[in-house]
Amino acid sequence: MNVRVGSATDIGQVREGNEDSFLIVAPLYAVADGMGGHRGGEVASSLALDTVQELFERKEGSLADQVVRANRAVYDRSQSDRSVSGMGTTLTAALIDGDTVHLVHVGDSRAYLLRGGELTQLTEDHTLVHRMVMEGEITPEEAETHPHRSILTRALGVDESVQVDEGYVQVASGDRLLLCTDGLTGMVPEDQIAEIMLEAPDPQQAVDRLVTVANRAGGIDNITAVVLDFDENGIGRGETKEAAIPHQPTVEQPVPTAATPDRSDITIVGAPIPEPPPEDSASRSGPRSTTTSSLPAVRRAPTGPRSHRGRTIGIWAGVTLSILVVGVVGLRLFLDTQWYVGVSNGRVAIFRGIPSEVAGFELHSVVVESSLAAAKAEALATWRGLREGITTDDRQGANAVVEQIRKDLERAEQPAS
Ligand code: MN
Repeated sequence: MNVRVGSATDIGQVREGNEDSFLIVAPLYAVADGMGGHRGGEVASSLALDTVQELFERKEGSLADQVVRANRAVYDRSQSDRSVSGMGTTLTAALIDGDTVHLVHVGDSRAYLLRGGELTQLTEDHTLVHRMVMEGEITPEEAETHPHRSILTRALGVDESVQVDEGYVQVASGDRLLLCTDGLTGMVPEDQIAEIMLEAPDPQQAVDRLVTVANRAGGIDNITAVVLDFDENGIGRGETKEAAIPHQPTVEQPVPTAATPDRSDITIVGAPIPEPPPEDSASRSGPRSTTTSSLPAVRRAPTGPRSHRGRTIGIWAGVTLSILVVGVVGLRLFLDTQWYVGVSNGRVAIFRGIPSEVAGFELHSVVVESSLAAAKAEALATWRGLREGITTDDRQGANAVVEQIRKDLERAEQPAS
């Protein structure tokens, strides 16, 4: 299977830096969307992809193993370097092996397949609003404009371990695959993405048009897209497009063998890839049809326990999510720049995030607990609202509030004279 690729990353219209990264080391393609103030997001997305690339080129482990290692690399850096503390990143990657696309995915970047004029999302967003939609709490339309739509339930680099979604898609001549960050999908409606994907004659033109419309729609986030065109004959490797960005060079590599090492150490949760149609072999090698509306030929990762878990996700989703959300709160954009002073374990404490919850999930984490007893502070008129949270502009503001509480308590405890 010949693959032609188009790629671009764009800062957008609003952001001061580009925290997205992409990777093109044929036959491996990936996008990553970093988060975490200052330079954290840039470091997280590029470190994750650098790690995957290095392991891929050394042929160490499966793609999912490589993503797990990338998680650890980002996490370790986040722990050891205070300037990037709390950073994280999404990662959506496609490894092409003949007519099989091996997808791995964490976060809210997406993979789509265009086939027969229809665009199908292959990945499942690891976001709070997606979970709320699945649980029937909000509609998909409400999710699109929900104030907390960018809160992730999973990301790389946030915890020591990460759960990686994994799936396989059979592609045929004429199929077009899109990997993109939420700077595209958050700005451009899916039917417009489908239209552009359908009409653009080559992958680089598709990518360029997608970036253009995302910017026209406002470009409030960084935009990254990689488009792959699959063609059984006719188009040689020599026509493979160069990456649009010089520091993301295109490297041709031989297609690896189909052998997949044992990955029993990786937990797969979720069913990111739709079930295969009953007879998926018919459409694999046929020419592109503009009338068929069948789902892409898809199969799950091959081992038994994995597909079993995929089917039971509906039952266990609530339990799984509440485990995942612990430690993954206050993650993105809005939340990781919010600070407040509140009560933790009966003590005055500094929190990152906002003092509320969505769908039963807390949207904050304790940064530091002070030695000050919360009850004593709340006994003072000034600090009566402490339990509801006193929001501040930044960490310094939160420190100042705690210092003020300390002074007020000292003053209150001095014997009247
Ligand atoms: Mn983004």
